[in-house]
Amino acid sequence: MPPPPGGRRVLIKLSGEVFGGGEVGVDPVVVKQIAGQIAGVLCEGVQVAVVVGGGNFFRGAELQNNGMDRARGDYMGMLGTVMNCLALQDFLEQRGVDTRVQTAITMGQVAEPYIPRRAARHLEKGRVVIFGAGAGMPYFTTDTVAAQRALEIGCDRLLMAKSGVDGVYEADPRKDPTARKYLSITYRDVIRRRLDVADPAAFSLCADNKLPIVVFGLGEDHGISRAIRGEPIGTIVAA
Ligand code: UDP
Repeated sequence: MPPPPGGRRVLIKLSGEVFGGGEVGVDPVVVKQIAGQIAGVLCEGVQVAVVVGGGNFFRGAELQNNGMDRARGDYMGMLGTVMNCLALQDFLEQRGVDTRVQTAITMGQVAEPYIPRRAARHLEKGRVVIFGAGAGMPYFTTDTVAAQRALEIGCDRLLMAKSGVDGVYEADPRKDPTARKYLSITYRDVIRRRLDVADPAAFSLCADNKLPIVVFGLGEDHGISRAIRGEPIGTIVAA
């Protein structure tokens, strides 16, 4: 789907860790703050889609380690993402923002099914579209879904909000405090230097299709609104 002529359309990936503030469940204070930042930039005309993770509830791989069937655990993980979607929807609507949740697993009472052309139409009308339930398929991650949705609905950037780090570093800054942050880096250098930007499937989708990724920290002052506006923040990974 082509991007809007002259306008900007971005997709922001918010991990479940963000929603839970590091705990299981949803931290309303954090979600309210995120919603406020998104609401604050919508009036500037940028179209915003969101893919929500679910690690604050369940991850299939962890449930498998505790003896559950992997695919069933993954479905639990996907259902967890939908709770985060509804929390974000609620706080956005409290700010007067029109929203739609679209899920990859059909659940008509709470969300629309994922229909890309309809999602694009919502965005054109200034609505925030929140994608939940991942790809609807076990063994995938919401990072990969974020890259896929961004490509399919014609976003010009994928914004990856991180909670523990504010960009891409030459080494893990939590282990090596002298590690330097890249302001920009090419896909090729990320691969050559074996840097951890996003999950490998998500990264390779972006690299193959030349979709720029912005990795930035949620802890940064107004990080989300600055990233949505296209201000220099974090690290930009591009061709
Ligand atoms: N999941 C899945 N298929 C998908 C997306 C997610 O099976 O397309 C499951 C998987 O178990 C994953 C969990 O949902 O661990 C939560 O998603 P993710 O780990 O990507 O969330 P995040 O790390 O962003 O919080």
